[in-house]
Amino acid sequence: MIRDRFARPLGSLRVSVTDRCNLRCRYCMPEAEYVWLPKSSLLTFEEIARLTGVFAGLGVTKVRLTGGEPLLRHELPALVSMLRAEPRLADLALTTNGVLLERFAAALNAAGLGRVTVSLDTLHPERMQEFARSGRHADVLAGIAAARGAGFERVKLNTVVVRGFNDDEIADLVAFGERHGAEVRFIEYMDVGGATRWSRDQVVSRAEILERLGARFGPITPVPDRDHPAAPAERFRLASGTTFGIIASVTAPFCASCDRSRLTADGTWFLCLYAAKGIDLRGPLRAGASDADLEALIRETWQGRADRGAEERLGVRERGVLYPIEALRADPRREMHTRGG
Ligand code: SAM
Ligand code: SF4
Ligand code: SF4
Repeated sequence: MIRDRFARPLGSLRVSVTDRCNLRCRYCMPEAEYVWLPKSSLLTFEEIARLTGVFAGLGVTKVRLTGGEPLLRHELPALVSMLRAEPRLADLALTTNGVLLERFAAALNAAGLGRVTVSLDTLHPERMQEFARSGRHADVLAGIAAARGAGFERVKLNTVVVRGFNDDEIADLVAFGERHGAEVRFIEYMDVGGATRWSRDQVVSRAEILERLGARFGPITPVPDRDHPAAPAERFRLASGTTFGIIASVTAPFCASCDRSRLTADGTWFLCLYAAKGIDLRGPLRAGASDADLEALIRETWQGRADRGAEERLGVRERGVLYPIEALRADPRREMHTRGG
């Protein structure tokens, strides 16, 4: 196991398999046009599996496939099978917007995927149309049902709460999760790259989320998660026994225990969601670096890591968007949809 400058281990890796997406969520891809990563720069499945193996050798046990929309990547179950063959990976998960999940759920399960998280921001199709520019709400619901039907026991739902858009649905989403055997996790709207319409007043805090749920469901008790100290979500339980999570990335960042890093689809490795620059792993990989060379590069880089992006943002007094659109166009790897959320 290797540790960074704040003694945080390198424990989990989010792997983006594409920067493309079939939705245009307002908090992530609100612009009319985007600069895409060149096709030739995308890592092949073999390259992803090789890098993941090197990361596993350094202590990574959790991998989450993400994007863009990961199910747009052709033959994704084949990548899942390849990663499943790495015995050191104890936890292999996927985050998807669910639009294509009905089609792939069974194949993903058969390939050995362990867990699925589906992003669901609203129960109202017309809101999705307005907010994500898509009429495929029914497909997302079918995808959630298909994931359960395919045998995924721990389906989670991710909801970014945005004031004036879906903050009136917090309790309804918990009730929906309860009915569908899925745990909802509310995420505070973050000022990350890509969120070019972000403003502080649209953030609905953890405290406010708890207040609203308390008003509808009564007493709420925290569920300590001693087995997963680096997990970003704090979990809570209602009197009915239903659990839900809150990821308070804006009001109570959890950088102190952050063991996560991110690999973009073109093989750029980011040490923090807020980092301005990443480390090119594709270059050395394609230039013939050995596993030992890659391991040395990753080890040395992680040992120098001092990132705590969300905590540093707390200290910014006039907090606005992280990057103006011109800065995102100049380097699309700064986009949330490129680095994988
Ligand atoms: N397309 C897939 C999806 O939406 O689930 C995977 C990629 S998406 C970038 C990963 C996660 O990032 C999603 O759960 C999404 O809600 C979250 N996300 C994107 N922009 C965000 C923002 N500005 N604040 C908080 N979460 C955000
Ligand atoms: Fe929405 Fe995910 Fe696509 Fe971003 S990458 S626009 S969060 S579906
Ligand atoms: Fe980890 Fe950076 Fe997020 Fe903090 S802001 S939790 S260091 S990825």
